[in-house]
Amino acid sequence: MRAECYYDDYDKKENLHFDSKVVHGALGCDPMTGSLSFPIFQTATYKHRAFDVSTGYLYSRLQNPTRQELERTMAILEEGFEAFAFTSGQAAHMALFGMLKDGDHIILSDDLYGGTFRIAEDIFRELGCDFEYVDMSDIENLEAAMKDNTKMVFLETPTNPMMRVSDIRKVSEVAHRYNAVFVVDNTFLTPYFQKPLTLGADIVTHSGTKYICGHNDVIAGIVVIKDDTYSDHFHMQLKSRGNGLGPMDSWLLIRGLKTLSLRMEKHNENAKIVAKWLRNHPKVKKVYYAGFEDHKGYQISLSQTTGFGGMISFELDSLDTAKKLLSDVKMILFAESLGGTETLVTYPLTQTHESIPADIREKLGINERFIRISIGIEDPRDIIADLEQALG
Ligand SMILES: *Cc1c(COP(=O)(O)O)cnc(C)c1O
Repeated sequence: MRAECYYDDYDKKENLHFDSKVVHGALGCDPMTGSLSFPIFQTATYKHRAFDVSTGYLYSRLQNPTRQELERTMAILEEGFEAFAFTSGQAAHMALFGMLKDGDHIILSDDLYGGTFRIAEDIFRELGCDFEYVDMSDIENLEAAMKDNTKMVFLETPTNPMMRVSDIRKVSEVAHRYNAVFVVDNTFLTPYFQKPLTLGADIVTHSGTKYICGHNDVIAGIVVIKDDTYSDHFHMQLKSRGNGLGPMDSWLLIRGLKTLSLRMEKHNENAKIVAKWLRNHPKVKKVYYAGFEDHKGYQISLSQTTGFGGMISFELDSLDTAKKLLSDVKMILFAESLGGTETLVTYPLTQTHESIPADIREKLGINERFIRISIGIEDPRDIIADLEQALG
């Protein structure tokens, strides 16, 4: 028998708007003490009240109130049934792929975060899964690739790093016709700009390290499910793999989420300005940015997102210019990752996309002149001035 738990009864905040939901979370305050800042329950285990009477919490690998507050907040923001917080985006995707079996066929975006590709090829292919990489920005490619044993369709939109946009509603329709689970990695746009569960996805994933945390100081991953179909699966992953996010890191994400709306607005606004500037620079050959009106997926974006995010990729005129840019930036930091307050430049060829085979990289356009930039929340004039001096 379970005792009544202080932390069971939380408000789904359905009457609040998104900007208020990020601030007030699930429980928001601590229901027991009234502490405005949600407590960090730095504990491994929980005292039982009596024989067969627990508080609802048994052991922190299974449940922890701080992690739970983060998970419930993410479920509220993505409009899902339940969420799970993992030790990294990679851990979240390992837990997700844990539902795959020998003989399953899985379709993933062809332009994909390198680590997701590595999980598929280095771990799950050996277990007998068959992965196929498809450009789903053209829905006919997906139709042609679907098989009777397609178990999962895994989509990034916009893609990393080529910024291709796919129609979430259409991909959902095709995936579900084959009874495949439809997953969207929503790291780039966050629920502030895009809510895939409301557009037909069954599962949403995040590298919580990026915009959800927002401050480049935590590694974390999030899974949100639309209904209870995969609830037991993810509870089992937390319980058996022991990959749940710790209380301190959970608290930092709760804290980061409070400013999600403000940060995303500023990332979006800054990226628009910088993308336009880059396009007019003589040493920049091509700019990949979902917010350009002549971007192939622009109309799709307007139908499913409320913004374009802070990510831009571009191709320079030469390897020398690329090397100079990466060496000479001052305020902007040359570092892997994205989604934080600081503007970062990344070199996908040797950083995020090193695991992608050379032929696929070439086909996508990830060459030695290719740069990805995560636009921070600084003054856009300083971002541009720094790019200008570093491009020379
Ligand atoms: C960073 C990233 C991941 C992996 O997440 P980690 O938190 O680094 O483990 C997965 N997907 C996308 C789109 C990412 O950018």
